[in-house]
Amino acid sequence: MRSRLRLIPALVLVLASIGFGARPATAAEDIQGDIRTAVSVTRAFWASHWYDYFRVRYLPPRVLGGYNGYSPNRPACGGQPLRPYNAGYCAAGHYIAWDVNLMRLGYEYGDGWIYHVIAHEWGHAVQANLPPGLHWGRLELQADCFAGAALQGAADDGALVWERGDTAEIQRILRLLSGDTPWTRPGDHGSVSQRMWAFRLGVRGGVPACVP
Ligand SMILES: [Zn+2]
Repeated sequence: MRSRLRLIPALVLVLASIGFGARPATAAEDIQGDIRTAVSVTRAFWASHWYDYFRVRYLPPRVLGGYNGYSPNRPACGGQPLRPYNAGYCAAGHYIAWDVNLMRLGYEYGDGWIYHVIAHEWGHAVQANLPPGLHWGRLELQADCFAGAALQGAADDGALVWERGDTAEIQRILRLLSGDTPWTRPGDHGSVSQRMWAFRLGVRGGVPACVP
């Protein structure tokens, strides 16, 4: 996935990586750029479309951003230090945050990871804005659905361009990391196929498909 605004650098990257799936060595600024884009397109999608779908008030989450899961000084949520190799929405502080190590790990396999993680955590902030009657029983799968809806919505708005294979890439990363991180533990988040079903439901049906 890429931002419209970064069309030219993205094109250079594509040309530089001859052969599908190959990518140049990961530069720190690439991942930072993808994180910034993922945050800005997800934020913009919900800010501009919330009232197309809901009547309750929308309070966007604060973006605490990256932390080092190994640091004793890492941020806390409700008194509990945030977990290593995880990303999360903290209800107590209404913020989203991610371990930079989790982002780097997934980024080795492709940039779709970054977009999926951020849009998924934003999906939990969306749930927090909604009355429980609009929640799914499986909150994790609903967050995946909202992620698909927001990313496809951003693409429909012209803010983001899906690249060939982005969805397949997200599936591949989830499968590769299945069970290896709290974020990809099937017991918490659902199996890879359930997660992809929910994500695709959001891509195809938009926000209305993600609420009961
Ligand atoms: Zn989640």
